This record gives sequence, C-alpha cells and structure tokens, in this order.
Amino acid sequence: MATTSTPVVPANARLVLATHNPGKLRELREVLAPLVPGLDPTAIISAAELAVPEPVEDGLTFAANAQIKARALAEATGLPAMADDSGLCVDVLGGAPGIFSARWCGHHGDDAANLRLLLEQIAEVPDQHRGARFTCAAVLVLPGQAEPVVVERSMEGRLLREPVGEGGFGYDPVFVPVQEDSPGAAGRTTAQMSAAEKNAISHRGQAVRALAPTLAELLRA
Ligand code: IMP
Repeated sequence: MATTSTPVVPANARLVLATHNPGKLRELREVLAPLVPGLDPTAIISAAELAVPEPVEDGLTFAANAQIKARALAEATGLPAMADDSGLCVDVLGGAPGIFSARWCGHHGDDAANLRLLLEQIAEVPDQHRGARFTCAAVLVLPGQAEPVVVERSMEGRLLREPVGEGGFGYDPVFVPVQEDSPGAAGRTTAQMSAAEKNAISHRGQAVRALAPTLAELLRA
C-alpha cells in the first residue's frame, strides 16, 4: 500500500517547460514542484536547457500562443510539455501590450526598454485610470495526445509612475496588485514581494495551480 512518502509519479517522470525566460522558469518550478508529489524539481527542465528552438508565436491570443509553444516542444522532445503565454493588459491602452508584452519595444525580451515604453505611454494618465492586469494562459500537451489542457487566469492591479522594487521581472516594478491596494495594505509592487508571495496571487501561480492536478494525473499514468 502506498504511504504518504511514496512518490506518486514515477521517479523517471520529466516535464519540459516551454520557456527561455529565466524569471518565468524560476517561478514555474517553484509553484509546480510541490504540487506534483514525487516530481523532482530537477526533472522540470526548460526548452532552453534542451536547446529546443522557440517556434513562431503567431497566435492572436495568450491561449493560442501557449498551445503553439507546448505542441512544438512535446513534438521536439517526446516529453510532456507545458507552456505559458502571458502579458500585461493595460485598460487605457485598450488591452495593449497584451500578447506583445515581451517584444513591445521592438525586440524580444528587453524588460528595461519595455518598461520605459510603458511609462512613456501612460505618463499623462491620471491615477484613477491606471488599471491593468497580468494574464497567463497555461497549456499542457502530452506527446501523441491531440487535446491540450488549457487554463487562463489573471491578476488585477494598477500601474505606478516610477519603478519600485528589485524582485520579479518584466513589468513587476510598476504593478501594484489589488490585494496591496486597499486601505491598510502596504501598496507594494510585485517586484517588492518574495517569490512565494507573488506566486500565491499571480496570474501564473493561479494558472499553474489550476493545471497541476491534471499534470499529476497524467504523469502518473
Ligand atoms: P511570454 O514569455 O511570451 O509569455 O511573454 C511574457 C511577457 O509579459 C514578459 O516578457 C513580461 O514582459 C510580461 N510579463 C508576463 N508575466 C509577468 C509577470 O509576472 N511580471 C512582469 N511581467 C510579466
């Protein structure tokens, strides 16, 4: 009979994450490993570590792009693959940068330039109209299995005028989640939170937690 210390996924189970972003890899590993009993954190590897090239993300939604990445990775590696696609949607910009968040400044992954562009674009926007949300679509694809598992979650907040905090990545230094924005709360940005604090409320943390039971089930099979 299984005891609580018995791994429930096989010792050789592996999962590939479709990301080349070290900030995202760190957050995904931290959230996922404890949720899938028996899955060794070192068995969660990234597409970058396996040198699998990134596919062209030409979907029109977060979910479509996450599926493109997860499918390409499952096919290239023959392993269960998980992808997330995420971004910042700013109310006053009609939802931009959205799916273009990582490459808004014109080239991919330049967090500092993207942040500068955001602050320029909303410099004149008054405090009451600085609402925004991070959204994350997370997708799980098993090799040879047609139907992906797809979930999407968001974290609501508001944007500051100047960056505050050294943690996180991307637009974190200007994003104050609603949980921090009520009277009596500290008003911290997600860049001022520990990884655990951010994961507990973030779009990515929520999406991965929603996907984890299915992942555990599939890896056990
Ligand atoms: P992706 O790698 O295509 O999903 O692009 C995600 C981009 O959205 C990142 O490069 C960041 O610019 C932004 N982003 C997504 N999630 C976060 C977050 O948790 N904090 C800050 N920026 C984020």
